[in-house]
Amino acid sequence: MTSQSAVLYLLFGEVRMLRFYNSLTDRIEQFIPLNENSVGMYICGPTVWNFAHIGNFRTFVFGDILRRYLKFKGYRLTHVMNLTDVDDRIITESKKRGITIYEMTAPYIEAFWEDMDALGCERPDVAPRATEHINEMVNLIQKLLEKGRAYQSKGSVYYRIAAFPEYGKLSKINLEGNITGASGRVDADKYDKENVRDFALWKHVPEGEEPAWNAPFGRGRPGWHIECSAMSMKYLGESFDIHAGGIDLQFPHHENEIAQSEGATEKPFVKYWLHSEFLKVDGEKMAKSLGNEFTLRDIMARGFPPIAIRYLLLSVPYRKQLNFTFEGLKGAVSTVERLKIFHSVIRETKAESGSNPELKKKIETALKEFEQAMDDDLNTSVALAAIHNMVREVNIAISNEVLREDEKKLTIEAVEKFDSVLGIFGKEDKQILDEEIKRLIIERQEARKHRDYAKADQIRTYLMEKGIILEDTKEGVRWRRR
Ligand code: AMP
Ligand code: ZN
Repeated sequence: MTSQSAVLYLLFGEVRMLRFYNSLTDRIEQFIPLNENSVGMYICGPTVWNFAHIGNFRTFVFGDILRRYLKFKGYRLTHVMNLTDVDDRIITESKKRGITIYEMTAPYIEAFWEDMDALGCERPDVAPRATEHINEMVNLIQKLLEKGRAYQSKGSVYYRIAAFPEYGKLSKINLEGNITGASGRVDADKYDKENVRDFALWKHVPEGEEPAWNAPFGRGRPGWHIECSAMSMKYLGESFDIHAGGIDLQFPHHENEIAQSEGATEKPFVKYWLHSEFLKVDGEKMAKSLGNEFTLRDIMARGFPPIAIRYLLLSVPYRKQLNFTFEGLKGAVSTVERLKIFHSVIRETKAESGSNPELKKKIETALKEFEQAMDDDLNTSVALAAIHNMVREVNIAISNEVLREDEKKLTIEAVEKFDSVLGIFGKEDKQILDEEIKRLIIERQEARKHRDYAKADQIRTYLMEKGIILEDTKEGVRWRRR
């Protein structure tokens, strides 16, 4: 127990309270939403210029656990996650390929949702795209210009950090020092700015170059940070409860979001900031730029089921770094296999009617420990230990033939509760017949023809879960069993 939670425990005793480590205050805090039972949550989504790697998915699986646990606690949740579908990398790559940014991002957006489904991540309630919210961004920039918190220079618009004295309150960055970014890098456009720290809200785009949008302050395209301020406030209001993302987004991205949003509204932007730690490989952050990344597809092609990756990614609490190894992944494969077998054994075991009070107590203890662990800033490793303890005790009861109907039912309910948050027990396996596979492939092609990508994704994911791998070839869709 942390000292903070020990104090809360002394004050509130048995009361079960959800607590988060808030990066804004650098403290564990009790979670109290702004509006009673409704929670607004924004998680920074992917830049869709490539397949996301499993480092990215560590953050998105964390977001999924956060989402599911808030619902488990009975909150009414609105969960927003953006798609960054315009940025320098997307533009450079699309130019290289001679296609538009929309043509460039479409397959990666589709792939992203396929991967999210395969990993058992629930879809956010709203998934806004940057290119569809340019007006909102332009309006926000206008407001900042009117307030003197932004200025124009050579057709671009920059945020004037000197006009927002609270700048640095999230990352605790020392403005007196000469750090100019997380990497200490000085921006190439520094001579257009009053201060090297000022960041672009709107980037000038010369006539004839694409993509660009017209705005009162000139033709151009938005900077990255402004999209999250504009879209989060559009869907969640000027002040909302939770903003989350990977730790690398804390500075400058989230610091800049605060400056933009609070600078425009004069209201507190977000109450709780949650940041998840990196997935690493051999001690280094997993990143495409370092060439040490694995996509979900790379891993699945090696025969690992996505549920094992989900298990591995959530097995370490989100604020601790996790080092990826194939040894660790193999361990996760056998653990999820054990959980899956347990799930089907408990359903199929015949139990005599009646109850076994001793076992009942153990199952109730597991449920309580699970919730206490999750309440403690989503401590998934302690929550998993409670689950494994219960599985062991119930298995012992089954082999000693002392499992009774009441505890069988209680165990099934407990598994459902655990799984509504963690999603690690897997679904019931029924062999899928060739005929059904062919029928579903045709249905999926029809859905794609009608641009119903959500349905097409669903079918692909369903087949993937059944161990059926689809391959799009020149001759049409081929399939094989994993
Ligand atoms: P991007 O698509 O680059 O905008 O990143 C999407 C999300 O993945 C962001 O929240 C990042 O912080 C997060 N992320 C990137 N690399 C890693 C990593 N190695 N481990 C955990 N999260 C990461
Ligand atoms: Zn963002």
